[in-house]
Amino acid sequence: MQVVLATHNAHKVVEFQSILGAALPELEIVAYDGPEPIEDGTSFAENALIKARAAAAHTGLPALADDSGICVDVLGGAPGIFSARWAGHGKGAQANLDLLLDQLADMAVEHRSARFVCHIAIVVPQTGFEQVVEGWWPGSIAIAPRGHGGHGYDPIFMPEGHDVTAAELTPAEKNAISHRARAFEAAIPVLRMSVIPN
Ligand code: IMP
Repeated sequence: MQVVLATHNAHKVVEFQSILGAALPELEIVAYDGPEPIEDGTSFAENALIKARAAAAHTGLPALADDSGICVDVLGGAPGIFSARWAGHGKGAQANLDLLLDQLADMAVEHRSARFVCHIAIVVPQTGFEQVVEGWWPGSIAIAPRGHGGHGYDPIFMPEGHDVTAAELTPAEKNAISHRARAFEAAIPVLRMSVIPN
């Protein structure tokens, strides 16, 4: 059973195939090569749905899309859906992370709580089925960056219950507990129910 993943990122296709394929061997995740919609939703869920609906409409296949970011409590949930471009379009991960640290410079440790959030939308054009699942990874923003693994905000994110940043975890450690792992876990029964024929 083919399911299209609404991303042009080849790494994501491999990641989705290895995690979802382990639980649902009948699934074959295929890359989407159609037009990219404008992500003008006001939430992770809306943006994930916009991407999944576009891929489903273009291919006629059941579609998956994810949308993720980091939410800082004292900033009212920002950067949120603006995580990838917090310092401005085209500025990149280091500028985003530097700006966030600067904004929190005067904040005491107990006021730096944050979470990574991942939403996955599942859209089945044949039945009209649509659902969004989510995964959260609670933690806090470190005082300074640490570690060289991972990507994005990993060097300044201290997962709850750990004395290291996400960039100091091994990929296997991160993949076992991350927001994405938790969203995948929630997506599996939904896919089993909505996509796999009885
Ligand atoms: P995307 O929706 O997966 O493309 O993620 C959007 C943005 O959220 C990325 O550009 C990163 O800035 C941030 N982000 C999402 N997940 C992670 C993560 O696991 N580590 C670090 N940054 C992340």
